[in-house]
Amino acid sequence: MSIFVKKVSKKFGNFQALDEVSLEIKDGKLLALLGPSGSGKSTLLRAIAGLETLDAGSIIINGRDTTHLDIRKRNIGFVFQHYALFKHLTVRQNIAFGLEIRKYSRQQVKRKVEELLELIQLQGLGDRYPAQLSGGQRQRVALARALAVQPQVLLLDEPFGALDAKVRKELRAWLRRLHEDVRVTSIFVTHDREEAMEVADEIVVMNHGRIEQVGTPAEIYDRPATPFVMSFVGEVN
Ligand code: ADP
Ligand code: MG
Repeated sequence: MSIFVKKVSKKFGNFQALDEVSLEIKDGKLLALLGPSGSGKSTLLRAIAGLETLDAGSIIINGRDTTHLDIRKRNIGFVFQHYALFKHLTVRQNIAFGLEIRKYSRQQVKRKVEELLELIQLQGLGDRYPAQLSGGQRQRVALARALAVQPQVLLLDEPFGALDAKVRKELRAWLRRLHEDVRVTSIFVTHDREEAMEVADEIVVMNHGRIEQVGTPAEIYDRPATPFVMSFVGEVN
């Protein structure tokens, strides 16, 4: 599914969180929204999801104007930094949740859940509870839960933000491989330029509610288009 964001603006009070943002995401691509804290990344993601009313502009998903479409009709999967799993449900039950409320048959749910457990490489852990998993494993379950209902679009807002550096690194590579497998059009928000470089097909650099540059990781790195991109991407940790 392709996504077009057309001249989207959003103010909170007097603060311009998004200022005529336009971008395009091609079918099956993984796009990273990269920028410092407060640059409008989450607001843009929420706008695409239908969780924010816009002051101006439109969001077209697969040729359909979804600007005023109810969120439940958008067929979007989410993973957030603190998108908690249900604590009293096992991994299997967590993944099954969205399928059960959509009235899949028992057989279908069972088959789908096993498929997803394999996809996230947690085959042996289906009967555990979230508290018995590591942080990285929990985010993999959150991803499986989001993918269970076969969303047209997957939105990830700093999904690995709460994890330690080593686990984050492992999950980057893992997410990349998962995306090669599943190929669902995805948008990944991060303030970590290494993460964006490693995971994304294309990067959108944001600053003060505007887009500074759009390009492949190599283009962004080799040919920063603005002084901001140069300093933000070129910074040495
Ligand atoms: P990012 O995800 O890049 O850190 P956000 O999109 O969350 O940035 O926020 C951009 C700016 O908009 C921030 O300065 C934030 O304080 C402000 N903002 C976001 N949501 C709200 C809201 N619901 N009410 C008021 N201000 C908000
Ligand atoms: Mg954010």
